[in-house]
Amino acid sequence: MRLLVTGGAGYIGSVVAAQLIEAGHEVTVLDDLSTGHEDAVPEGARFVRADIAEAGQALDGVDAVLHFAAKSLVGESVQQPERYWANNLGGTLALLDAMREHDVHRIVFSSTAATYGEPERTPIEETDPTRPTNPYGATKLAVDSALTAYAEQRGLGAVSLRYFNVAGAYGRYRERHAVETHLIPNVLKVATGERESVSVFGTDYPTPDGTCIRDYIHVADLARAHLLALDAVTPGRHEIYNLGNGTGFSVQEVIDVCREVTGHEIPAVVGERRPGDPAVLVASSAKIQRELGWKAERAALRDIVADAWGALSRK
Ligand code: UDP
Repeated sequence: MRLLVTGGAGYIGSVVAAQLIEAGHEVTVLDDLSTGHEDAVPEGARFVRADIAEAGQALDGVDAVLHFAAKSLVGESVQQPERYWANNLGGTLALLDAMREHDVHRIVFSSTAATYGEPERTPIEETDPTRPTNPYGATKLAVDSALTAYAEQRGLGAVSLRYFNVAGAYGRYRERHAVETHLIPNVLKVATGERESVSVFGTDYPTPDGTCIRDYIHVADLARAHLLALDAVTPGRHEIYNLGNGTGFSVQEVIDVCREVTGHEIPAVVGERRPGDPAVLVASSAKIQRELGWKAERAALRDIVADAWGALSRK
């Protein structure tokens, strides 16, 4: 297929673009490089440097869009909501209009666990209430609602994948945010000597060791789900799938595994809770397993950390 990957110079988008090329698809990456890196665009992809609002120039003859381009920092979304609404919702609506103009009726959308907010139960299923607690989650949920309406009224075929905590690396493709807020890369920065210690945001949560529990999924497993989703997109339908490992690991467990993998002592300093962090976030991925036959292949935390570490030591 001829595919447009928005945000394909970013962490997850570049891994998906690489897997699509390996599977024989023809890929154009559209990215404004506001947070992405041009050298992350996989070999073999055509690259267009542009904002998603200008996606029309790259849509001729395209069969489907995989849409990753977005602002994705929770804290920043609280401080600068306009940026998130304009980019994540406004930009996506412009993309959907351009898709209609160019007769492109298939999209796989990068959604998030942040659409659920503070969960009432665990693991979270797709039918659970969506009550985002920050503008980031709210903008992604708004896009999900638009996709449902466009599927019903305009015949769009859409699949939203709601990611939990994506980590690890795929070959040379790795996480490298200018502002790094995520746990695993921050812990590994201690092992590489870029940071003195890692902060543990709270040890008084109602969990066995008092630290927050998250569902870490390997980026290669996550990316593979996009290829399955692409095959499953059906005009007139919008499907939503959670994507996680189904197993939670605590912040303390993550730090311990990083110590084992890197052989570095990784000093940890206990700090305050980070506002807005739920104690436990774990996905039920039963729906995508059942309907699309997806299964995590590198589910062990050790493998996820080892791949992230391997990519860092190769850089
Ligand atoms: N966390 C931490 N120290 C850090 C970064 C994150 O203790 O330097 C904790 C954070 O409070 C959360 C978990 O690690 O409980 C995962 O955070 P991350 O930002 O990686 O992902 P999120 O779950 O917020 O999407």
